[in-house]
Amino acid sequence: MARDYYGILGVDREATEQEIKKAYRKLARKYHPDVNPSEEAAEKFAEISLAQEVLLDPKKRSIVDRGGDPMDQAAGGMGGGFGGGLGDIFEAFFGGGGQTRQPRSRVQPGNDALLRTTVTLAEAYSGVKQTVAVDTAVVCDKCHGTGSETESKPVTCDYCHGTGSVEEVQQSFLGNVMTTRDCPKCRGYGEIITDPCRQCAGDGRVRATRDLTVNIPAGIASGMRIRMAGQGEVGHGGGPAGDLYVEVQTEPHPYFLRDGNDLLLRLNVPMYDAALGTEIAVENLAGGETLIEVPAGTQPGDAITLRGEGMPQIRTDRFGDLVAQVQVVVPTDLSAKERDALRDLREGSADNTEVHTEDGPAHEGFFSRMRDRFRR
Ligand SMILES: [Zn+2]
Ligand SMILES: [Zn+2]
Repeated sequence: MARDYYGILGVDREATEQEIKKAYRKLARKYHPDVNPSEEAAEKFAEISLAQEVLLDPKKRSIVDRGGDPMDQAAGGMGGGFGGGLGDIFEAFFGGGGQTRQPRSRVQPGNDALLRTTVTLAEAYSGVKQTVAVDTAVVCDKCHGTGSETESKPVTCDYCHGTGSVEEVQQSFLGNVMTTRDCPKCRGYGEIITDPCRQCAGDGRVRATRDLTVNIPAGIASGMRIRMAGQGEVGHGGGPAGDLYVEVQTEPHPYFLRDGNDLLLRLNVPMYDAALGTEIAVENLAGGETLIEVPAGTQPGDAITLRGEGMPQIRTDRFGDLVAQVQVVVPTDLSAKERDALRDLREGSADNTEVHTEDGPAHEGFFSRMRDRFRR
């Protein structure tokens, strides 16, 4: 059950920082251990000190205003400490003697969310701002996370008497053991909203789609995730949102293949150009042209590397390389004129290219040995 911090200090819910401090000082004069040495006063003093601390902290106060308790030890991550864990084991073996579990805070931190988006390779090269539709839980704008339709406060659960848990006896090899589980009526919160908000059914949050602009940095690669703090799912009771992760995929490009930060390109070079040398302009990812110099005598399969003409390396000022692999294109449908010219070229060629395989002599040896064998 959430403590009534406003009631402890005797201030109303709209109290200003000054009013809270004033109310605290007034009560402190009455209960301070120096003034009043009784045990009761010491407890009261601890209580008002805690209430002042909570209400002067805007984050904690907002949890109180949504019906939660920021100092609740059972609230995951909010108060820290040993919530639950050990207690469960002791209760299971020793029958829940004395110590009982705290009800769970109605205000819970939200989960992270994941979203996928796609960019072109050119966008990955330059970086891009992309607007994405995000569908997550957001704070219900009707009840502002309190979960109640009206101003009325949640009431203590009558099934578990506000503890948030129920005990059950179970048979086991150890004999009868007492186990503790969440109260089925209040789902562990220890309190029940009597007039649930009609928009969120008491959850304090609703699903909504909104547009978000994601800054996708230059050099992003498929599978990388961009984290957007506090843009994930809002928690139960309007609790603080988790983070949003945007996972980026890049589309395949018609002729560039990405290999890490390098760009690979298959470059078709006409036979004549491979022999004589040429320059080939390729439309690059920045929208301009990159000139690739093909030296005379380039062979099929040769790689031409252009340093720093590849993809940018993410969050640095370095670039990968552009590697063009040459594919020599031999003409297939020659005109009569072309055929004659090529014949002339062949007749006149001083180059007596021997026609044999790469490791010719070894093969010849192999064939002659085979011949010898058949002769026998
Ligand atoms: Zn609501
Ligand atoms: Zn209950």
